[in-house]
Amino acid sequence: MAALIRYSKSSAVSSLSSTSLLRRCFSSTVSSELASPSTASPSPFTLNHNLPRKDPKDRNVQWVFLGCPGVGKGTYASRLCNLLGIPHIATGDLVREELASSTPLSRQLSDIVNQGKLVSDEIIINLLSKRLQAGEAKGESGFILDGFPRTIRQAEILEEVIDIDMVVNLKLREDVLLEKCLGRRICGQCGKNFNIASINVKGENGNPGMSMPPLLPPTHCMTKLITRADDTEAVVKERLRVYYEKSQPVEEFYRSRGKLMEFNLPGGISESWPKLLQVLNLDDFEEKLSAAA
Ligand SMILES: [Zn+2]
Repeated sequence: MAALIRYSKSSAVSSLSSTSLLRRCFSSTVSSELASPSTASPSPFTLNHNLPRKDPKDRNVQWVFLGCPGVGKGTYASRLCNLLGIPHIATGDLVREELASSTPLSRQLSDIVNQGKLVSDEIIINLLSKRLQAGEAKGESGFILDGFPRTIRQAEILEEVIDIDMVVNLKLREDVLLEKCLGRRICGQCGKNFNIASINVKGENGNPGMSMPPLLPPTHCMTKLITRADDTEAVVKERLRVYYEKSQPVEEFYRSRGKLMEFNLPGGISESWPKLLQVLNLDDFEEKLSAAA
C-alpha cells in the first residue's frame, strides 16, 4: 500500500499520517503561512467574490482533482462527491451549461467557442464563482473541482477567491494510459462511451502488474462502434505531452503549499476505488454510510 502513495516531499501533508490527514482536512486548515494568498500582484480581474471564507470545521471539504485525460478523474471525483454529499464542479460542464442559457455571457461565450478560441481565465473564474455563490445560496457545503485550475494564473486567482484544502493528483502509468486512450470507442447510434482495451501488464523488477478489464458495449452497440478521429497514437501522445507540460507548474504550485497528494492508480475502478478511500481515510466513512443506509 505504502508504495502506491507518494505524498509530496517537504509538504505539510507528508508529515501527517493518512489517518490524521482527512481529519485535518475536515477540521482545520493547513497552517496559515502555507495557506496565505500569493504575494504576487493581484489579478487584474474584477471578480465577483462575495464568497465567505468559512472555517474548515464548519464546512465540508474543498478539494481539487488533477489528472491527465483518460485517467478517469471525472469518475473518481463524482463517486467521491456522491459519497461525501458535495457537488462535483467540472468547469467543462459550467461552460456547456452557460452556452445552453441565454445570458449576455453565453452569447460572448458562443462567439469564442465558434471561433475555436480558448475560453479565458476570466470567463472560467466568473462561471466558477457564479456556481459557488449559487451553491452557497442553496446551502451547499464543500466541493470537488474537476478541470480547474489548469494554469498557475488560474490557481492564483482561485486562491484569492476560496480556500482549497487538498489537491489530489491522479496518475496512471503512461503505457497503460496510452492503451486505454486508444481503446476508447463511441457507439454511433446511442452515443455511449466504451473501452475495448483489456490491460494486462505483468509485474516485473519489483513493480506490481496491472490489469484493467475492458468496458465492453452491449451486443446491440457492438457493431456500431466508432473510434474518434483524434484518438490516434500520435494525437494521444501529443495530448499527454501538452498536458504534462501545462500541469507540472500547477502541481508544483500546490506541492509548495503542502497541499498536493499524489495517487498512483493501481488498476481499474474496482481495485483503485477502495485504495483511494483508504488514503483519503474515507474507508470507514463508506462502511458507516452503508451501515446507516
Ligand atoms: Zn449504442
